[in-house]
Amino acid sequence: MGIKTFEDYYERMLRMKPNVYIDGEKVDRSDPRIRPGMNVIKETFDRANDPEYEDLCTAISHLTGEKINRFTHIHQSKEDLLKKQQMTRVLCHRVGGCIQRCMGIDAMNALSVVTYEMDQAFGTDYYKRWEKFCRYFQENDIVGNCAQTDTKGDRLKRPHEQVDPDLYLRVVETRKDGIIVRGAKVCNTVAPYADEIIALPTRFMTDKDSDYAVAFAIPADTDGVKLLCRPAYPHKRKKLNAPIANMGDVESFTVFDDVFVPKERVFMNGNEDPRVTPFAGFLALLFAHFHRHSYTGCKAAASEILASMAALVAEYNGIEKEKHVREKLSHIIGTAELVFAAGEASAYRAERAPSGTYIPDEVLTNAGRRLAGEEIYNEYKILADLSGGLSVTLPLEGDFYNPETGKLLHKYIMRNPKVPAENVHRCFRMIETALGSEMAGLMQVAGLHGGGSPQMETITMMARYDLEALKSIAKYLAGIEKELPRYTRATVTPRAILERFRQMYPQVKK
Ligand SMILES: Cc1cc2nc3c(=O)[nH]c(=O)nc-3n(C[C@H](O)[C@H](O)[C@H](O)COP(=O)(O)OP(=O)(O)OC[C@H]3O[C@@H](n4cnc5c(N)ncnc54)[C@H](O)[C@@H]3O)c2cc1C
Repeated sequence: MGIKTFEDYYERMLRMKPNVYIDGEKVDRSDPRIRPGMNVIKETFDRANDPEYEDLCTAISHLTGEKINRFTHIHQSKEDLLKKQQMTRVLCHRVGGCIQRCMGIDAMNALSVVTYEMDQAFGTDYYKRWEKFCRYFQENDIVGNCAQTDTKGDRLKRPHEQVDPDLYLRVVETRKDGIIVRGAKVCNTVAPYADEIIALPTRFMTDKDSDYAVAFAIPADTDGVKLLCRPAYPHKRKKLNAPIANMGDVESFTVFDDVFVPKERVFMNGNEDPRVTPFAGFLALLFAHFHRHSYTGCKAAASEILASMAALVAEYNGIEKEKHVREKLSHIIGTAELVFAAGEASAYRAERAPSGTYIPDEVLTNAGRRLAGEEIYNEYKILADLSGGLSVTLPLEGDFYNPETGKLLHKYIMRNPKVPAENVHRCFRMIETALGSEMAGLMQVAGLHGGGSPQMETITMMARYDLEALKSIAKYLAGIEKELPRYTRATVTPRAILERFRQMYPQVKK
């Protein structure tokens, strides 16, 4: 059966070879600094085993017909995309931030489409290899990290133009039984508590960049993989336990120090077959696209989490009904709803790729994701504004339980007599986590750059939007053109891009 428990997963983690480095030490997966991140992943197992969430958090595998965790599912319909988005929103609410497990499955969905197309174009067997891996992924309820972001060196130079050729992950040797890869991927969420690392290209590649057109999956403790990790978690609580206090995140700077990847786990290799190189850019964008669609669920939730805190503190402070407060709250709520609506509309407009995978609409997804990214700092500003300075100057927890100072703090923190002092304390302690902790800094930058900086969404949208068709409206209104063709949405879809690829590459007769 394809649904495992947190305990199954945790046992797997404990069996892994130690290759996690934190602050100069090499540690295994039982290190307490990793546990808050694992607590987030726990939610994805617990809810898949919870009858109340079964419809959202499980799906039926298109490969085996078995019930599986939705975080291992390849979207087979518009309904699947809608449910994935809802699941993401709901689970993010429960952990107070990023659910962290979407990267792996977004990478798997992108690979399902692109490996299929490469096989159609060139008679390779990447899709077969990927399908075998996908069965393993689903049957074992695997947690996957997606390692896409390269270190990238000089941003304006292509991979082959960099002073050091390893600044983008590349294949240094193709052998009969596999490949050797070298390079590093950065900002890798979940990597030290993932079973598998799924590496994908980060950008379009020219014909001189074939060695960099590489995709594969390997166990996260493979020899030569070094996970240089930065944990982030709220201040440790002594007494006042709360769900948000137990969650955290660990980011990895992942070094591939001449790592062997067996052939069956290689899903693209431009070093061996340069013809596949143009598909690297398509894979990079398609992962970003599936991931940005996930963001329309999680970023809506991130905004709602901030709005919920702002609303609660405003109530406790007695200002809830003030006009400026309602305006500020409505601003965050409006953004959250629009971002989610963009993702929903993208799902309704999804197209079926030849592999069978459903791909959401690109322009709408990017528009939603960009709105979320642009608004994130404004939303933090609203929470800081409505909370006041105590949100980051609150005395530490011990002072609330010290017999000498505890009573005084509980007396002076009171606002509304109907709200117990401990609830006020809890509220500010939670907001301290959201605004003033290491997690807060991480969540802000994640809101901006995760899934691609806002500029990347702009580039994607403008590449897909037909400006000439748009301008025909103005030309008609100005009298430059006599006729205005009946309006159709002027965008190029991923399916159309795949069709263009198919025209470029004569299909292999099977
Ligand atoms: C919390 C967090 C979690 C993340 N998780 C993951 C993950 O799990 N896996 C993963 O692979 N990645 C992950 N990322 C990485 C994320 O996708 C990148 O941060 C993002 O794509 C931006 O890339 P960068 O950080 O290299 O910044 P840069 O690309 O250096 O961007 C910095 C600035 O330079 C601009 N810029 C960049 N290139 C050019 C150019 N050629 N011309 C003009 N301007 C340019 C950008 O628009 C931006 O304004 C995560 C990031 C964060 C913050």
